[in-house]
Amino acid sequence: MSVEASSDDLDFRLPPFTRWSWASPSALAIWQPRIERVIKAATHVEWLSVLSNLYRAAIVSLSGDEIGRAAVDWFRAGLVAVPIRTRNRGVGGARPSTDFLVTRPEVVDTLDASAAKSSAEWVLGAPECCIDAARSTAPRPGLDSFSRLVAATGNLADHRDRVIKEWEPASNIAFRVRGLRAVPHVPCALDCVATGELWNALSELWDRHGYSVERAWLLELLSMSLEWSALHGIAEVKTPLFRMIYDCRATASKHVIRLDSGVASSTRGVRFPYAPPPRNLVTHSASFRRGIDAPLLSLRGPGTTSVAPVSTWLENGFSSMDAMGRCHSLVVEAVTVGLQARVGGVLDLGCGNGALLRRICAARDSALIPWGVDANAATVRHARELDAERADHYCIGDMFDPLTWPGPKRYTLGVLMLGRLIEREHLAATLARTLRAACEVIVLYVYPGYPLGSLASLAARADIALLPGGNEVAGVGEFGRSWV
Ligand SMILES: [Zn+2]
Repeated sequence: MSVEASSDDLDFRLPPFTRWSWASPSALAIWQPRIERVIKAATHVEWLSVLSNLYRAAIVSLSGDEIGRAAVDWFRAGLVAVPIRTRNRGVGGARPSTDFLVTRPEVVDTLDASAAKSSAEWVLGAPECCIDAARSTAPRPGLDSFSRLVAATGNLADHRDRVIKEWEPASNIAFRVRGLRAVPHVPCALDCVATGELWNALSELWDRHGYSVERAWLLELLSMSLEWSALHGIAEVKTPLFRMIYDCRATASKHVIRLDSGVASSTRGVRFPYAPPPRNLVTHSASFRRGIDAPLLSLRGPGTTSVAPVSTWLENGFSSMDAMGRCHSLVVEAVTVGLQARVGGVLDLGCGNGALLRRICAARDSALIPWGVDANAATVRHARELDAERADHYCIGDMFDPLTWPGPKRYTLGVLMLGRLIEREHLAATLARTLRAACEVIVLYVYPGYPLGSLASLAARADIALLPGGNEVAGVGEFGRSWV
């Protein structure tokens, strides 16, 4: 295996560092706060997992001002924390931090005895297969943990240029140097079954402690296409959203690993993981051109060469234009079946930048008229830019307040993400009543990966019947007796 020491090795090692840069201002605006929340949640869940006996110990890295608060939490939970090392990843403004071993009091002594000669995986209490892998590769580590794990995946010996199409997101540790990870240990392989099972158990902890949304974001990040490469002691990870570099074992030749989800990102670039702009996006439709050009102009900051219409999908919470396109197609499909030949106004509650709404109306030429309401002023402003001729069809307002709905207040079709009803249960009955009175047909949708459940499960839970002709993402909904 090329991860073994070889003539490719160079005899130096750069001091530890990590650097992070964003693919676009829009990626930064949307995903930086999300990633911060994910890392915070992951850190919390990692030590909670000790209480649930999923791991024997957690290694938690904290900076000065966070330590006091965490110490109180650990003490209250009956856990002990032993400082094990202080690190100065201070390059680039990051504060120095201390790693604590957090565990149950009775475990501390047993760990002390053998921890020195054991792998971190053993200390944490990772699955046996992962402990074995960590021990057996310890004398000859990969260029970094990620490359070691990839080299161990499947039976291809060389990872100098590897493309991997399927992986267990929980085992993807490409971002782990930044604390962005599903599991605290280094799995034995990208498709480690035991790690997948452990993640299922951990997922319950994320949900139980109010981190369902963060968990969904994390999974989205770990499922993205990425390219990892290493040369001269610098590892680089490129994703459609960001790029990070950090130190690794120094080699004279370049090593490349690609995780390819098969989903092309619309972040344009000439090389993987940035797909070239798909040809079928080129159209002569004026409104489509506006949709492409408007975010282009607003995104081009000084000194950037970012050129993608990324905001259209990022703003709506998708990781790629393709992902958004596929989901929207399924909603349009359900609308077509539900509306039959009907024409008139379409009300989109929580319209975001109007991408879905315009797509629904475009499918029927000018027979449908878009009306959208959303509480997020920035996305509504964007919707107005993208559909300038009908700017007044998009309103900033609370979708639960019919007084803020735009247009005629009578619509042929109402479109609603079903999760919104579940999220604000106390307002749901009023909204449902008004919606039924105002719309002839109501199409409900739930995107795959929504943390509270699928369309079918949420509809069942909310006593809503889904009429035939829908699909797993969208369908015509009829409110049951409990709503009357
Ligand atoms: Zn394993």
